[in-house]
Amino acid sequence: MSAWVLITGGSRGIGAATARRCAAAGWDIAINYTQDSVAAEALAASLHGMGRRAQTLQADVADEAQVAAMFERLDAAGGRLAGLVNNAGIVAPAMRLQDMTPDRWRRLLNVNVVGTLLCCQQAARRMSTARGGAGGAIVNVSSRAAEYGSAGIYVDYAATKGAIDTLTRGLGRELIAEGIRVNGVRPGVIETDIHADSGLDPHSAATTLPIQRLGRPEEIAEAIAWLLSDAASYTVGAMLDVAGGR
Ligand code: NAD
Repeated sequence: MSAWVLITGGSRGIGAATARRCAAAGWDIAINYTQDSVAAEALAASLHGMGRRAQTLQADVADEAQVAAMFERLDAAGGRLAGLVNNAGIVAPAMRLQDMTPDRWRRLLNVNVVGTLLCCQQAARRMSTARGGAGGAIVNVSSRAAEYGSAGIYVDYAATKGAIDTLTRGLGRELIAEGIRVNGVRPGVIETDIHADSGLDPHSAATTLPIQRLGRPEEIAEAIAWLLSDAASYTVGAMLDVAGGR
């Protein structure tokens, strides 16, 4: 029976690179997306070409009913859920605190934090050995911003990633007794489309990094795939920086 890895926000960027890397490692891949069904279907077709099962699943991770329905659709496809990558995330236009709105904070929190919680809960219910599951692994995508706070550009986004770090450490300890390893990665500045939403130039940010270049989505995917794999069997509640030395 096949084993699925579900990747939220999987149709592009770090999520799509992770889908390809995990398919190469032998997993079947469930690609969550919100709007871009064309990209999600094209990615699924390329994973089929690698000999893997691939399923596209539309859902807003911030919506409880849509998340529940997404996991039920994956159940119906058959095969166990072995991995979850909470990759879906949003940023917001760069600005200082005095100009931000509460609506912006609520959307950031709902997608980045509540979305991660909802998906962790649904996955844990299926993976838990205490509930008859076979265990599994969860990887949460945070950011190096969680540590340095992103003063003057998006302290709110950074704070949502700080919440993900704390959640990852706590859930790592809570769920390991049920056979579920929870870990996270903290990317640095990676060449994806997310930067268009902040209005910041990632190339100039990259010049401040010790490594002096942007990261590639594939370099984050490699770390995620390792954390999902049995090679990371003793790694629990850890945050792995993949950030060019930042
Ligand atoms: P991206 O914008 O290409 O990917 C984000 C994905 O999340 C998109 O597919 C988007 O459609 C999806 N998404 C957004 N809201 C969603 C929702 N409500 N429900 C479901 N999916 C939703 O950017 P990326 O850089 O690949 O980002 C992936 C993750 O990496 C994010 O969590 C981001 O915060 C994190 N990250 C990125 C960088 C970077 O420099 N690119 C740095 C640190 C952390």
